[in-house]
Amino acid sequence: MIKNNNPYISIVIPLYNEEENLLPITVLVKKTMVKIGKSYELIFVDDGCIDGSYSVLREISMDNSNVKIIRFRRNYGQTAAFDAGFKAARGDVVITMDADMQNDPKDIPALLEKIEEYDVVCGWRFKRNDPFIKRISSKIANYVRNKLSKDIIIDTGCSLKAYRRDCLNRLKLFDGMHRFFPTLLRMEGFSVAEIKVNHLPRRYGKTKYNIRNRIFRSFIDLLAVRWMRERRLDYEIIEEDR
Ligand code: UDP
Ligand code: MG
Repeated sequence: MIKNNNPYISIVIPLYNEEENLLPITVLVKKTMVKIGKSYELIFVDDGCIDGSYSVLREISMDNSNVKIIRFRRNYGQTAAFDAGFKAARGDVVITMDADMQNDPKDIPALLEKIEEYDVVCGWRFKRNDPFIKRISSKIANYVRNKLSKDIIIDTGCSLKAYRRDCLNRLKLFDGMHRFFPTLLRMEGFSVAEIKVNHLPRRYGKTKYNIRNRIFRSFIDLLAVRWMRERRLDYEIIEEDR
């Protein structure tokens, strides 16, 4: 019999300049995973950090054999970081979250419970701990996104999500697409659920996104997703000679 050494869960965390957050997030994830009692790997994707994040990660990985590090040559963006993490993940279930400790690892058990019934489970930050301007712009963005892409995801911007790993093989990603993972996977026929999750204020480091660097680009991305949805090949064969 071939022995399968793959962990059950892969946790993928993209990060850009989050040096103060990395040790605390690792400790919190470990605590939760020990409680759950399932095998896991924690994949940090260093998206070209220019602070001390990489050396902190090296130190962390020295005393935690579950920790894996992927390091990018430069900053390629969150979608690229997710993509690299997804390709490296070996678990049956892949969980993603931010590195800034705004997501709460304590929500992982609820995600795991729901993933028994669905292919994708998205966190919904129902009490969002972000500045007003971010909350309102995100509400508008979600509304427009759903209208144009004919979807019903309340909070696609929440990185805390769980996926059955096999589904992720069907994604061909492009820069900016991390905001559309649930829609893209639903287009492939997978089932998507949303559950309420905690959201904490950012204590260390700075946000990497503002309205200026998000709104225009993500609108163009939305038009691309809408186009993909409309032009998706969706045919049924009723007979075929072989
Ligand atoms: N991030 C990344 N690459 C980037 C920008 C952001 O990996 O080019 C990471 C960042 O370090 C964080 C997550 O993506 O772990 C979400 O970013 P952030 O917290 O700045 O976004 P916000 O929560 O403010 O929308
Ligand atoms: Mg954040």
